[in-house]
Amino acid sequence: MSSKTPTLFEEYRQTMTEAINMTTVSMQEYGAKYDHWVIAYSGGKDSSCVATLIPQLIENGNIPKPKSLTVLYADTRMELPPLQNSAMAVMDRLRDIGADCRVVLPPMKDRFFVYMFGKGVPPPSNTFRWCTSQIKIEPMMEALAELRGKYGKKFLMLTGVRVGESAQRDARIALSCGKNGAECGQGWFQATTPEKVADTLAPILHWRVCFVWKWLRQWAPIGGFPTERVADSYGGDEAEEVNARTGCVGCNLASKDTALETLLKEPRWAYLRPLMRLRPLYAELKKPHNRLRKINERTKSGALSKNQGRMGPLTMDARRWGMDEVISIQEAVNVGARAAGDPEYFLINAEEKAAIEEMISANTWPQKWTGDEQNANAPFDERDSVSGWSQGSMFTTQGG
Ligand code: SF4
Repeated sequence: MSSKTPTLFEEYRQTMTEAINMTTVSMQEYGAKYDHWVIAYSGGKDSSCVATLIPQLIENGNIPKPKSLTVLYADTRMELPPLQNSAMAVMDRLRDIGADCRVVLPPMKDRFFVYMFGKGVPPPSNTFRWCTSQIKIEPMMEALAELRGKYGKKFLMLTGVRVGESAQRDARIALSCGKNGAECGQGWFQATTPEKVADTLAPILHWRVCFVWKWLRQWAPIGGFPTERVADSYGGDEAEEVNARTGCVGCNLASKDTALETLLKEPRWAYLRPLMRLRPLYAELKKPHNRLRKINERTKSGALSKNQGRMGPLTMDARRWGMDEVISIQEAVNVGARAAGDPEYFLINAEEKAAIEEMISANTWPQKWTGDEQNANAPFDERDSVSGWSQGSMFTTQGG
């Protein structure tokens, strides 16, 4: 017999109806204090749940109707096609019931591939995570600030953050969003929305993942929301077990692209297979021969700086090659999309391609880099930043 004392949650497992009731009570209590409500929507499972549950509770008269309900869809331009298509269909239904739905895009220079290939910044990684804030959080914060100006007062921002049954076990997932089951960006919306702009509420904080899937597969469609496709994207009936992390296609920060791999098992989505080439492409781009390196870098006082020999931006050749590779991936996907009668998919659209080419022609580099630095594959003298002594010639073969 196990000596472990059961926790309160293990002794008492909440039902879906009880979870919805708790959401209803929290919305009655806190929602009523605000005239305007805003939902941060990414198309992932948790925010899809909030974006369809709250309007349905309003429609059914379970919670008070705010003066306005705005849905801000964070379009990173990196969504899985079925999720993107589903988000568009959900927003059509939301517009029908009077919600103000807006698509929030990052500024052109900050878009994922424009930043990478136009400016030369290497693909994001766990030690250099530039993407979430730039392509999701900052554009959303700007849209929220604009709404704050329009309303002239604070509003209530609703997010899809969940901690499930064990707050202790899952608390970090909510903010780091680096594990399966989490939704990239949601925890950050919750934590970084300035208090003077909006107060945040996570109405499904207490929901278990099985409730989310049940809602998306069965309950929301009854209300006219086509969210079955969200569940399909993560394995249909297996979605609960797969419990994939939701975020950009080919996310370089996840250990594997569970969502895409799961989707590819369905013959319906087999034409998305070329997207599996994204992660190997990022790995290749991070290698030294595709990057520049600063050597003998000095501080303003003339001393050798720390971090000697650090690798930096992508070379111009790597940037052109990388862009061509992504375009060839999307062309391969679009052969299948056209055959299936689905909308074409663009990771780099014509406007973004033109912006990348313009930035390359203008010799654009990240701050403190000029393009005159040596190729990171070339041998270099590694100097000790304290003594200034040479550590000997060194060839680097590993990516950074
Ligand atoms: S899903 Fe991955 S690539 Fe996309 S913003 Fe989040 S961490 Fe970055």
